[in-house]
Amino acid sequence: MRNLIVTFLSMILVAFGVKLFVTKNAEKAEFERHEALVADAVECLDAADWKCAEQAVRALLCDAPHDTNLQLHLAGILYEQERYGECIRFVDSLGYADGDFGFLKKKSAQLLREMDELGFEGSMHFRVEFEGRPSKRDVMEALAVLEVAYDSLCNLFDFRPNNKMSLVLYKSSEYQGVGPRPEWVAAVFDGKLRIPVEMMQYREIYRPVIFHELTHSFVRAMTRSKVPLWVNEGIAQVVDASRTGSPRPEGVVPSKEALTEPFVKEPSTDVAVRLYWYSQKMVERLLARDGSFVHFREFIQSLRNMEADDALMKFYGVKTDQLLDEVR
Ligand SMILES: [Zn+2]
Repeated sequence: MRNLIVTFLSMILVAFGVKLFVTKNAEKAEFERHEALVADAVECLDAADWKCAEQAVRALLCDAPHDTNLQLHLAGILYEQERYGECIRFVDSLGYADGDFGFLKKKSAQLLREMDELGFEGSMHFRVEFEGRPSKRDVMEALAVLEVAYDSLCNLFDFRPNNKMSLVLYKSSEYQGVGPRPEWVAAVFDGKLRIPVEMMQYREIYRPVIFHELTHSFVRAMTRSKVPLWVNEGIAQVVDASRTGSPRPEGVVPSKEALTEPFVKEPSTDVAVRLYWYSQKMVERLLARDGSFVHFREFIQSLRNMEADDALMKFYGVKTDQLLDEVR
């Protein structure tokens, strides 16, 4: 009898152990699912891939519907996708009126009003914001050029972006975004294309500028990896063609490190000119080895899992130092 009781007790213990094990495993799986979703959301947000970000954030909101951080991200994602009406209704449904929520709601309403006043119904591939008061003529002109450039780049890289590209048409320097910029930067790409609308009066200037900045947008849309600055600026200049064939600038050859860091931090025009010149030459040397822009796209996409020099070796049989040597 005693044996029977012991056996019975051990069976209960084993059953309890199994249950604990199963629960622990389920908890672990649940934790891992959640972590994967968070990682997904962060990566998609970083890449400004709003469609994939929306999916991840909505899934996270199912687990935590009252998380204000997630709610704010969703409002921002709707806003970034030009879904201003939805953004306003979402913020209203939460009952928030101030802070970041209030800001998004106000900006959404303002953009709807501005589009309405301009009689502008939106663009195929761009999500447009206005700063200052650009004229409809300038806006339509800019968009016509952008759409043509967009098609050319789709064909060149054999790539169609998943999301609309963000464009800010601004009226004066105070609207260039966060922080002051050096004088030599006319238009910038900082996740959004920022183009001074005054530039539209100078066709010979804005065409290369638009091709240049749009190439940066494509680079960002094509890969989520960090692209060395010389690669990014080099390809943008090859595409805009405005400086092709210009003579070597005077002065010391930039270091590999200087060519990898973001250039806009560089306050001196002379140094900047040199960085741009060497970048273009180095990318031209790559394209001389293989002229396919699709191959180039595959190269930058491979940077996600490879060190720059390893990827350069694999796709072009060369390393950064050697390229720099060839053009110095
Ligand atoms: Zn650039």
